[in-house]
Amino acid sequence: MTLHESLLDTVGNTPLVRLTRIASGVPAPVYAKVEFFNPASSVKDRAALGMVLAAEKSGALAPGGVIVEGTSGNTGMALAMIAAQRGYGSIVVVPDRTSPEKIKTLRAYGAEVVVTTGALPREHPEHVRNVAARLAERTPGAWYANQYDNPANPEAHRTTTGPEIWAETGGRVTHFVVGVGTGGTVTGTGGFLKEASGGLVQVIGADPLTSTYSGGDGSPYYVESIGHYLHPQTAEDEYPESYDPSVVDRFERIGDRESITVVRRLAREEGILAGGSAGTAVAAALRVAATLTPDDLVVVLLPDSGRGYLSKYFDDEWLRRFGFLEDLTGRPTVADVL
Ligand code: PMP
Repeated sequence: MTLHESLLDTVGNTPLVRLTRIASGVPAPVYAKVEFFNPASSVKDRAALGMVLAAEKSGALAPGGVIVEGTSGNTGMALAMIAAQRGYGSIVVVPDRTSPEKIKTLRAYGAEVVVTTGALPREHPEHVRNVAARLAERTPGAWYANQYDNPANPEAHRTTTGPEIWAETGGRVTHFVVGVGTGGTVTGTGGFLKEASGGLVQVIGADPLTSTYSGGDGSPYYVESIGHYLHPQTAEDEYPESYDPSVVDRFERIGDRESITVVRRLAREEGILAGGSAGTAVAAALRVAATLTPDDLVVVLLPDSGRGYLSKYFDDEWLRRFGFLEDLTGRPTVADVL
């Protein structure tokens, strides 16, 4: 029997699960680190907890304080969950395209949600991250988490995700495949695995086709939370400080259509309902594993659950609207023949 003193004790130690059916045609075994087992349902619980604990230690966040972050994604949810458990306030700034479900989830955790205009250049005062920084400056007791430039983000993966994968595989992991958003996961986990293996583990970034991380032109794509694209009104944009490009040995570049096909197959063939960036990562892992041998061992990280994307990648209407449906099955759907 294990008793947990709080929900935060259940962050991490997620299962590593073999992909038996979707990867049956490739020589190397592929194991998925299924991060939706975290309490706020994504890999971001690790980074958020790491950042909060570091801020408490440094004194940047004190009892009665308020956690502030600018994100439409999983980090906001993770921080709101942690704030609730530890008795802090939380303010999450989100762009106006954020789904009502996500805003309601943040509010359910007790967060104050501030909606700002999306699609603004990074230097615009109303850009999500600038609004968050300003709110943090002006709110008494506030601490700005700033996952993009916070070293505690990659550090959380160096001390949890990496060691877990190393221990779970008994040091047999040879390839690690993951998408790159803030870069925290790849930098910390990949960095640890490289050190533990004496440089033997290969780290492969799974990147949207047009993302600038892997040399794309920076034009937009559908899969959320990974890659790096250029805002049309800004000539250049900087990579986050939490991303160390030297950790990535190479990238596999995956188009939206392939990511979506694979994430749907994951649900239907493995029973793993994961988010779009997991589709990108598994598509890349399958390409990598196809070139390897049964003595290799591929680990791919699935960042979050498909529950947050039911109206997108798992919805035929959405797929049809954006032209993704036909190629997924190659045959008419029920809606087509009725
Ligand atoms: N996929 C999803 C769904 C995410 O929420 C994130 C985190 N933004 C990532 C991938 C990328 O992780 P990281 O920021 O650590 O690079």
